[in-house]
Amino acid sequence: MSDVVSEIPTELHAGGPGLVQARRLVTEIPGPRSRERLERKKAHVADGVGTMLPVFVTAAGGGVLHDVDGNSLIDLGSGIAVTTVGNAAPSVVANVQRQVEAFTHTCFMITPYDGYVDVCAELARLTPGDHAKKSALFNSGAEAVENAVKIARTATGRDAVAVFDHAYHGRTNLTMAMTAKNMPYKHGFGPFANEVYRAPMSYPLRDGLSGEEAAARAIDVLDKQVGADNLSCIVIEPLQGEGGFVVPAPGFLPALAAWAGERGVLLVADEIQSGFCRTGDWFACDHEGVVPDLVTTAKGIAGGLPLAAVTGRAEVMDSVHAGGLGGTYGGNPVACAAALGAIEEMQAHDHNARARQVGAIMTERLTALQQKHPVVAEIRGRGAMMAIELNQPGTTTPDAARAAAASSYCHSQGVVTLTCGTWGNVFRFLPPLSISDELLHEAFDVVAEAFDATA
Ligand SMILES: *Cc1c(COP(=O)(O)O)cnc(C)c1O
Repeated sequence: MSDVVSEIPTELHAGGPGLVQARRLVTEIPGPRSRERLERKKAHVADGVGTMLPVFVTAAGGGVLHDVDGNSLIDLGSGIAVTTVGNAAPSVVANVQRQVEAFTHTCFMITPYDGYVDVCAELARLTPGDHAKKSALFNSGAEAVENAVKIARTATGRDAVAVFDHAYHGRTNLTMAMTAKNMPYKHGFGPFANEVYRAPMSYPLRDGLSGEEAAARAIDVLDKQVGADNLSCIVIEPLQGEGGFVVPAPGFLPALAAWAGERGVLLVADEIQSGFCRTGDWFACDHEGVVPDLVTTAKGIAGGLPLAAVTGRAEVMDSVHAGGLGGTYGGNPVACAAALGAIEEMQAHDHNARARQVGAIMTERLTALQQKHPVVAEIRGRGAMMAIELNQPGTTTPDAARAAAASSYCHSQGVVTLTCGTWGNVFRFLPPLSISDELLHEAFDVVAEAFDATA
């Protein structure tokens, strides 16, 4: 168990869009230097913290990751939809450098600073709806979801929280209760927070229902098993992330929103994975004109720095007593500077348009894949958040083994791919929007090879 890594240059080098944009494999993946570091990781890092593809990174940017062995991999994951503006994006780097030299922390609850308020103003401007909005900032998505529930309970005076099948909301106690999938997120970690109720999600491939029908089914469960009068909020990912990039049938979200509005139940959109230009619009709710009462954001908001937010109707947000919301690091000045830089990048480079272009290329490539490989049951998603569900041909029996095999083939060829889904049978694609068309095509050449090689 080596504690010192032998003869290995550990120098980081400059990343960002200036990195040579090419896939280059000089060793097997992971290479010897990464494997040596993996041993060190095993000695010092808890086993519960997994690594999907253990190549140790030295720099990243554009559409590539460079590793300690001198390999350059194409990134189709963006660190789970975080580096949407690209890794080490220029405006993020510049803002962070300026901020980190000025001051690193004061605690906004003690002595405030402009960056926090600037981010809240941007959130009010960019999130769905033109009503008066306010925000509170946090560190992680799970923390934002927890706080959205706190706010909804205070605003309504009700306890119950509704969530959906296949939902993912985080790994803290309350958000584990809200997350659907047992393994690996919940297994052995109970007892969980109570007053969380699960309703059936609209999943067109599997339920064949229209949006209105699926909403009626969910509403019936909530009405009969919970009672609208007991319900503080419905928390929903308008385009599910970990659960398998499930896009609800058109009309599902508007029907739920209408029912919630009539019953005084707050609609909380968890846009942590789908927000900030990922789907070709600022938020996934925008595709159907749904205006939630509260929105949770994180991941893509700050170009890789940890930041999260709850944004919502001013009167709802203000229902919480002074001092009831906060945290030592929430809205850290460096993370806020990064978020302002990331939003600047999204606007300057019209990342909503870019996400739609990336989505069009991916859809074209995945359609060709589906024509050749009947295991591809469905292509779904929006913009640069696309996935394929793999089922045994002609059935709805999940083929997780194929997803895992195809994904590890991609890894071995220097393309970072992710899987997801309740059954692990969904292959998802979340490229950074700074990737070039050429690299994106090359990555999908490898994806195509992966399906041929695992047929
Ligand atoms: C990732 C994610 C979370 C949790 O965010 P963390 O920052 O990992 O706590 C919550 N909701 C959704 C939809 C997510 O994708």
